[in-house]
Amino acid sequence: MIIVMKPEATEETVDRLLDKIKSKGLKPLHMPGAERVVLGALGDERVLAELGFEAEPSVESVKPILSPYKLVSRELHPHDSRIAIGDAVIGGGKFALIAGPCAVENAEQVQASAEAAKKAGARVLRGGAYKPRTSPYSFQGHGPEGLALLREAGDKVGLPIITELVDTRDLDLLADKADAIQIGTRNMQNFELLKAVGGAGKPVMLKRGMAAKVDDLLMAAEYIMASGNDDVILCERGIRTFETATRNTLDLAAVPLLKEKSHLPVIVDPSHGTGKRELVAPMALAAAAAGADGVMVEVHYDPPSALSDGPQSLYPEQMEALGNQLAAMLGALGREL
Ligand code: PEP
Ligand code: MN
Repeated sequence: MIIVMKPEATEETVDRLLDKIKSKGLKPLHMPGAERVVLGALGDERVLAELGFEAEPSVESVKPILSPYKLVSRELHPHDSRIAIGDAVIGGGKFALIAGPCAVENAEQVQASAEAAKKAGARVLRGGAYKPRTSPYSFQGHGPEGLALLREAGDKVGLPIITELVDTRDLDLLADKADAIQIGTRNMQNFELLKAVGGAGKPVMLKRGMAAKVDDLLMAAEYIMASGNDDVILCERGIRTFETATRNTLDLAAVPLLKEKSHLPVIVDPSHGTGKRELVAPMALAAAAAGADGVMVEVHYDPPSALSDGPQSLYPEQMEALGNQLAAMLGALGREL
């Protein structure tokens, strides 16, 4: 429920209403604006109905939040959220290129790939230390050693790092060493993991489940926000359809749709979205045209030798070319890389 206070409402009244929301076991939200204060109350609908704020003289209006997700919805938060990953800002008109290898393989590989990302204009370095692979016989990542190598490479090229969390037992380590935490497609509805990153104190990039609807993604984001973390970034990475010509079907219509429904930044991953390096640049440019807040792209200094996702990884020269194309496209749209 959204409670809009009258401009003359006093601080004491606002505090009293917030206390009442809390005393009913509901989650209170306090959103002071330039002209008036807006309050929110989240929780059981029957309890919300008992608040009776309509009768308060200092209350201008009381409106239910119609969307099933509350904290992620634009109803509650009309302006675009800006989320900081280290010194990079995601959302709010900015466009962020996030790039790096699929997996951290060794010091030389991650360093060379990080340099390629930086040269192309990336603002954040990505790299998997814990890899959720379809086959148990595929490379599973180097775990804590991989994370340390990613941190070292990020520090050397001057980029903040994002890496995937697959197990709550590794949360403290990731929250300590990484600048942002990624939840992958296979874990989008792993609710225990979502609740855990709600308390991580680091931004979270939530990737769309490969069989998840847009509303499922938003509900999963709601889990993270309801557990105390406002810094959530959504990521469209393709979904399973009958089409097998591409690894997944990149749903670019989801970008403007998500941005209409939610204030959270939306990143597109054309690498996992297509599975083919020739399709990565066209889809990255299309994502920018569709209004995405950034793209996340896999780059490898030597894709044929990559231990994972070589066929969709860009060569360093392609990465640099994509950076230039994105800058030109964004310039035409009145935005910047
Ligand atoms: C990744 O980005 O490293 C990854 C594994 O992607 P996804 O979860 O989208 O498959
Ligand atoms: Mn990958």
